[in-house]
Amino acid sequence: MATRLDRLENLRMDFVANVSHELKTPVATIMGFVETLLEGAMDSPEDLEHFLEIIARQADRLSAIIDDLLTLSRLESAPLSEILDLKDRNLCGLLETSYQICRERAEEKNISLSVDCPVPVNIFVDRSLLTQAVVNLVDNAIKYSPDNTRVLLSGSEGADGVRISVTDNGPGIEQKHLTRLFERFYRVDKARSRKLGGTGLGLAIVKHIVSVHEGQVRVETRPGEGSTFIILLPRHAGWVH
Ligand code: ADP
Repeated sequence: MATRLDRLENLRMDFVANVSHELKTPVATIMGFVETLLEGAMDSPEDLEHFLEIIARQADRLSAIIDDLLTLSRLESAPLSEILDLKDRNLCGLLETSYQICRERAEEKNISLSVDCPVPVNIFVDRSLLTQAVVNLVDNAIKYSPDNTRVLLSGSEGADGVRISVTDNGPGIEQKHLTRLFERFYRVDKARSRKLGGTGLGLAIVKHIVSVHEGQVRVETRPGEGSTFIILLPRHAGWVH
């Protein structure tokens, strides 16, 4: 028990250190560029525009991190019954909504995004949370895949429950990253994730949302070929105690 508590305390301290670092970096960048502008760079219209763009991007990043942290802390707040809005929903409709949210981003990279949900499936879930989980996966698939590829979002019901999967033909993920992939702020390629506007919290949020629905999430991936992220929800997903 004592060892377990120690481990939890270490995880908590790591998380606090990570949050501080992740928040301080964009703030420091913003302050640096504002100072440079005030010291005279703003006299050049070109520098002014360029630096303001950087500042805007860093402010977006900061705002995305804060939103994701708030989502995570809400998911951890007790009692869960107060934050979950569980109702009978149509899975295909939920996937269609997720598709609509991601469509534009796919078009920008000429990625063909499609939904395959051939049979109506009813699930007892918090619609907005599950939509967010699916959108996070589709968003990653689009973000990390090269232009002109395909992303497939599918939903079905089988013997093991309801299955939602997101398949891409992107870079795939090396085996050695898989155990830590769903941890907060874990990134395979930090620079690439930052450049693409990633917070490093997307998969941690997916994992949390799936777990409050008593489901599981896993990934099947092969470097160089692509990845499939799979959410499995029990038939009676949502009967949370
Ligand atoms: P981020 O904000 O960096 O995208 P996530 O938690 O959503 O954070 O994902 C964690 C890391 O997992 C990413 O930085 C990326 O390296 C890797 N990853 C996630 N989805 C994919 C994917 N579909 N293909 C390849 N790598 C991925």
